[in-house]
Amino acid sequence: MDSEQPTDLSLSVCLSSATILQTGRPSSLVPCLLCRSVGCSESMACDKFIQWLEDDFAPWIERVLEPVPFIFINFLLVVVFVFEFFIVLPNEIALRGIVVGTGLAAIGVYFFVNIFYHLYKTAFTDPGRVPKDNRSPSCDKCVNHKPYGSHHCRTCDKCVLRMDHHCLFIGACIGLYNHRHFVQFLAFLGFGCVYALFAGIYSLWYNVIWRSREYAYCNMVEDSVLCAVRGAHLPFITIVFGNAICLFGAILGLSMFVWQAFLVSDGMTAIQCRKEGKGDMPSWQIFKDMNWAKKNWKEFLGIAKSNESFLTRVLLPSGHKPYYAEEYTLGKV
Ligand SMILES: [Zn+2]
Ligand SMILES: [Zn+2]
Repeated sequence: MDSEQPTDLSLSVCLSSATILQTGRPSSLVPCLLCRSVGCSESMACDKFIQWLEDDFAPWIERVLEPVPFIFINFLLVVVFVFEFFIVLPNEIALRGIVVGTGLAAIGVYFFVNIFYHLYKTAFTDPGRVPKDNRSPSCDKCVNHKPYGSHHCRTCDKCVLRMDHHCLFIGACIGLYNHRHFVQFLAFLGFGCVYALFAGIYSLWYNVIWRSREYAYCNMVEDSVLCAVRGAHLPFITIVFGNAICLFGAILGLSMFVWQAFLVSDGMTAIQCRKEGKGDMPSWQIFKDMNWAKKNWKEFLGIAKSNESFLTRVLLPSGHKPYYAEEYTLGKV
């Protein structure tokens, strides 16, 4: 056999490398090698294998892995809850007294209730189905009417009313019916994590920043499980780790909330913002017309009418429907 002659495998690797260089995507290198490792020698068999990977296997993996980030968010929230109420709170009560401790705990419960309420409302509310209608404009993928503001989500493979984006963390599309819950989730998460950092500041101060022998964790909370193993520095490690998760939640929640706050003030969704050619940032004009921004917020939160209060509709969990739902659905906007 001529050693200069490229083998089938080396030709495939070469072609695949060229594909990666051109498209930036390992579209056939790995599948081809996999195919050959299980005995496919015919290029036809290899093509079929790749087709199967792309059409059946990849969507199946996506579907299986879709809930993973959502489960992970829930896990982190439970970890923070256990940390705050069973590790930090007894220490804060010992340092600041039962009255302050009870107050801190009550505000903490308020934040947790709102965070979970809006997280689950975002994840399990239908973001906005487009009814069957043959009017134009129509979506070339759904072959159905595409009302103003709606967009075809590639992940969900359907059109969503007033779609903002598809959130991979929550595993849900953000559209007309759950956008408010999503923004409120970000706000409660961000401000709740900032609150948790301040509520546990004594515990952080005496055990991590300015380590005090007198006010050390195990002197204050003697019966804690963390103090069963002497000399293991468990309170120190736990407090550092717990506060790091809170800091991460605060940065993530607040930065995403600020981005959404610009969009809401400007009365648009992330997709409209990109489509209307303003780049990735909403117009800074919103600062010149605060009344307009205020009106957009009131409509977004559903508190524009005199009988709709900020307390019951925003500060407390509320499942009220968005304004203009019918208009968006029927394409009258
Ligand atoms: Zn569509
Ligand atoms: Zn989607």
